[in-house]
Amino acid sequence: MLKLRDVNAYYGYVHALKGISIDVEEGKIVSLLGANGAGKTSTLKVISRLVSVESGIIEFQERNIKNYSPEQIVSMGIVQVPEGRQVFPQLTVKENLMIGTFTRKDKDNIPNTLDKVYTYFPRLKEREKQIAGTLSGGEQQMLAIGRALMAKPKLLLLDEPSLGLAPLIVKDIFEIIKEINKEGTTILLVEQNAFQALQISDYAYILETGKIVHQGRANQLISDQNVKKAYLGA
Ligand code: ATP
Repeated sequence: MLKLRDVNAYYGYVHALKGISIDVEEGKIVSLLGANGAGKTSTLKVISRLVSVESGIIEFQERNIKNYSPEQIVSMGIVQVPEGRQVFPQLTVKENLMIGTFTRKDKDNIPNTLDKVYTYFPRLKEREKQIAGTLSGGEQQMLAIGRALMAKPKLLLLDEPSLGLAPLIVKDIFEIIKEINKEGTTILLVEQNAFQALQISDYAYILETGKIVHQGRANQLISDQNVKKAYLGA
C-alpha cells in the first residue's frame, strides 16, 4: 500500500533521513521504533508531505505521491495524528472531531463515522460539548485519534500515541489501535514504547540516526536477543 525507497530528507544541513526504505502492506500494523532523534517523526512527515524529500521514491497505492500537497495526501486517505495530541483547545470535542471531516466529499456519511468514533471512544461522546483544552491527556489523545478517523483514513500515521500517558491509559489506547486496524484501517505507528508497539504490530523497523538498522516481523524482533538488549530494555 505504501512504499518508500531510499528516501533522503534534510533540515538545512542536517541529514535527517539517510536512505529510508519501508513497506506498509494493506491491513497491517507496522511500527517505526528507535531512540529520540532517530528520524521516526521525520519519516511520517515526508509521507504526509510536511517535510520535503531530497531524493527517493514515495508511493501510495502505486501512485507517486512525492509531489502531492498535504491536502491531497489527506484526500487520498493518508491521515497523520501528530505527536503531542495537538487538539484545538478552545473548541469543543465535537467541533474538533468535525474538523477532521474537512476534506471529505461524502458528507452524508459523516454521522455514521461520528457514531463509529464514539463507539471506539465513549468518553468523547460523554464529553461532546466540553472544551478540548480541559480534557485529560489521555482524552486529548483519544480526541486526536478520533479527529483523524473522521477523515476516513485508509492509512493512519500515529506519532507516539503513548507519550506522557499513564500505563493503564496506554493499554487502552493500544487496544483501540488494534481494534481500528481490525476494522480495516492500515496503521503506521511511531513509538518509543517499543515493547508495547511490537505486541500489536505485524512488522517493525528500528531506526538509528536516520537509518534503518533492524527490521522484521514483530514476533521475531520481540524474541531477538540483540534487539531485546538494545531496544526493549531487557
Ligand atoms: P523524537 O522521538 O525525539 O521525535 P524522532 O525519531 O521522531 O525523535 P525526528 O524528530 O524525526 O526524530 O528527528 C530526526 C533528526 O532531525 C534529529 O536529529 C532532529 O534534531 C532533526 N530535526 C527534526 N526536526 C527538525 C527541524 N525542524 N529543524 C532542524 N532539525 C530537525
